[in-house]
Amino acid sequence: MRPNSQELKRKSSHDTEREFGGTLGAIGIPIFLPLTVLFLISTSRSPEASVLQWPPSLPSTDQLWDPLALVVLLCWIALHAFLYLTPLGKVSEGLVLRDGTRLKYPINGFHGLCITGVLLMFLVGLGAPLGYLFELLLPLAVCAIAVSFLFSVYLYIRSFLAPSHALALGGNTGNPLYDFFIGRELNPRIGNFDLKYFCELRPGLIGWVVINLGMLMKEVELRGSPSLAMILVNSFQLLYVADALWNEEAVLTTMDIVHDGFGFMLVFGDLAWVPFTYSLQAGFLVVHPQAISSFRAAIIIALNGIGYYIFRKSNSQKNQFRRDPSHPSVARLETIATATGKRLLVSGWWGLVRHPNYLGDLLMALAWSLPCGFSHLLPYFYVIYFTVLLIHREDRDERQCRTKYGLAWDTYCRRVPYRIFPYLY
Ligand code: NDP
Repeated sequence: MRPNSQELKRKSSHDTEREFGGTLGAIGIPIFLPLTVLFLISTSRSPEASVLQWPPSLPSTDQLWDPLALVVLLCWIALHAFLYLTPLGKVSEGLVLRDGTRLKYPINGFHGLCITGVLLMFLVGLGAPLGYLFELLLPLAVCAIAVSFLFSVYLYIRSFLAPSHALALGGNTGNPLYDFFIGRELNPRIGNFDLKYFCELRPGLIGWVVINLGMLMKEVELRGSPSLAMILVNSFQLLYVADALWNEEAVLTTMDIVHDGFGFMLVFGDLAWVPFTYSLQAGFLVVHPQAISSFRAAIIIALNGIGYYIFRKSNSQKNQFRRDPSHPSVARLETIATATGKRLLVSGWWGLVRHPNYLGDLLMALAWSLPCGFSHLLPYFYVIYFTVLLIHREDRDERQCRTKYGLAWDTYCRRVPYRIFPYLY
């Protein structure tokens, strides 16, 4: 059922519930997080690599700016925009929008990753100094932050030309700072080019594994060969990114695409936060090499494998169930009915905890940090931050599901009492 115009007006009015600390968060986060990115990169390469060191080791201005970084970043975004537009892969439809239409999306991110891989092999074969990414990382992060701000301003301004049904319900509060931060327009497009979908999994996510590869090449330059710790970090994270792109279609039903507007929060997250903080372990290993035994490596590989198995199986089970509940792989699972007509799984992975996919993701996050040893806290930044992010995300999703499913959601919570960690949380 489509909401009528009165409902839309009510939802988009100034009393819309605000997330991420409301106006205060909308002012603080865009200042604090970019500074955190720069702080983490510069700390990870300092000899102490101490997040508790005071005053923190701050980079000088000439370490922050290099025109080459801007050229590299813009060429990188242009390459992926080009790959997005190539007629490779299939085209899928998103969920039904408030105006009853469905948008079409190219499913060719994995092709983009493979083509990028071939191009990089070719460039490295020609002698391109990929290890120079280590030196270029801070200026690249500065440019990505600047591009995120400018792009978010563009998105905010253009959102005033969009019809009301194209606005995200939570991003139209009338408070410019909050709306700029959270995003007003749900699916901003230039022609058929979907700006949010493009940023979600391509320049930043593929950029992350390329930065990792750059750190590996820097290690080769410095020490003659890559360390086992560096190979583990590179392989685990490449598997994660390749998996996300292989299953790209699943992003069409995520909160980011379906619910959130496209504003600074997602733009910065996609273009700056993910590539530059998720690659911290690889950067750390360049300056702080770690020797790990085969036994420890085997335990870490097993942990990553278990995490990946839980993550992939649970995500696939839900996606399959949502696409076709009568499919043999999910038809026998126990479910409960909801007033919306959709059913909720209460057995299988989704009967273990209410977010088994987050559990798997967190086990992998831990496995990515362990190759960096126990001498520093900094390489564990990702797993600590990610735990906070997923607990907060779970809470947001929980509230949305309670609004959507009402009593049926309460029944599900009684049947499956733990949110992420069995018997713990
Ligand atoms: P989820 O895939 O967890 O989806 C949540 C939705 O699933 C709910 O809104 C509901 O939607 C549906 N659902 C919940 N419970 C049930 C049930 N019992 N039966 C059937 N459907 C149910 O959402 P996310 O987008 O948060 O996560 C997707 C993946 O991305 C996760 O693996 C997560 O770990 C990962 N992720 C990674 C990040 C990173 O930075 N690396 C950041 C964020 C997420 P409905 O009922 O409407 O279908």
